[in-house]
Amino acid sequence: MLKLCPVCRTPQLSKVLLESNLPAFACPRCEGEWISADDYWAWLEHQDDIPPEPPADGPPLQVSDNQQATLCPDCRCLMLKYRVGHELSFYLDQCSRCQGLWFDKNEWASLKRRGLHDEVHKVFSAPWQAKIRANERQKKVDQVYLNTIGAEDYVEAQRVKQWLDQHPQRDVLLSFLNSG
Ligand SMILES: [Zn+2]
Ligand SMILES: [Zn+2]
Repeated sequence: MLKLCPVCRTPQLSKVLLESNLPAFACPRCEGEWISADDYWAWLEHQDDIPPEPPADGPPLQVSDNQQATLCPDCRCLMLKYRVGHELSFYLDQCSRCQGLWFDKNEWASLKRRGLHDEVHKVFSAPWQAKIRANERQKKVDQVYLNTIGAEDYVEAQRVKQWLDQHPQRDVLLSFLNSG
């Protein structure tokens, strides 16, 4: 069966080797990459034998994150989008049926730089997604504190909090501070 690019729709995907043991299909137009679930898991199993590469430095790669409804190149089912988090702003597309993976241009490369490419399967899990939401909530809370207290005092308050949190007499100190 022809594999059509889920983003451009028309060009046929062509076979490439994404990593030494990871066959994939690439779109010649948008440069996105498709990996079947089986190929990903087979590659991941083999990854245990290979020492992890140190994350690469360099300026962030230009990712072209698609925002449209995408259909799986293998089974033509709808693909679902999942946020990656970890300061990466793009979404990954996973087929809702065969669990194949679509990476827009440079998404795989960006994940690889952060050493997250062998954790891709976790991105689609509930705990991973819950953690992204929890981090976001915490950031919002911190922002409100920062806006209310002001930048200078916020830094000082953070310093005091850190000191308090690791102090063996933390509860007594808190009680003292509250005693008026
Ligand atoms: Zn394409
Ligand atoms: Zn599929």
